[in-house]
Amino acid sequence: MLNIVLFGPPGAGKGTQSEKLIKKYNLNHLSTGDILRASIKNQTPLGLEAKIIIDKGGLVPDEMVIGLISKELDEHKDAKGFIFDGFPRTTIQAEELDKMLASKGLHINLMMALEVKHEELVKRLLNRGIQSARTDDRNVEVIEKRIKIYNNDTMVVAEFYKAQGKFRAIQGMGTIDEIFGRLCETIKEHQ
Ligand code: ADP
Repeated sequence: MLNIVLFGPPGAGKGTQSEKLIKKYNLNHLSTGDILRASIKNQTPLGLEAKIIIDKGGLVPDEMVIGLISKELDEHKDAKGFIFDGFPRTTIQAEELDKMLASKGLHINLMMALEVKHEELVKRLLNRGIQSARTDDRNVEVIEKRIKIYNNDTMVVAEFYKAQGKFRAIQGMGTIDEIFGRLCETIKEHQ
């Protein structure tokens, strides 16, 4: 099993790189953002609750995303491994993920953190807002709030994995293929 946390601020390229990684390594992509957006689209009670928070740029409650991830892990028992994208985003989520995995005899192998300059993040997100249906990418204030929450509340999650010797920083500037190459090199060192 190869279980990877792909980490980084909004707009760092986690979704783009996850898509390439799951193909190359035959992994399951678990993106809490994607799962929440699907719930919003299907207008489930959870989706309706999440939409209000997401549109303001906040984080949805830990219990909500932990429940979603737990369900996904149970539904994909035969997976070769997982890429966690957008999760864990708080230390509580990281602790719960470790517990959930341990109960199945599993663990995280590696956290790779994409590092991208602030101006580039805002540029990429605004561009995505024009090209996609994502309402949270249309407004600079919402984007800045998400980056601030990342810096204030999410970045500490890296310390959790550093303490376990599993953290690797990855230069997230450059072409999609250059960045993908760096991620693959890092995975190679861990296989
Ligand atoms: P991005 O990282 O580009 O902001 P995501 O698609 O990962 O986008 O997440 C979109 C939104 O969904 C976040 O701004 C947040 O409101 C919510 N969300 C996603 N994952 C989590 C999580 N693990 N914990 C809390 N909220 C989350």
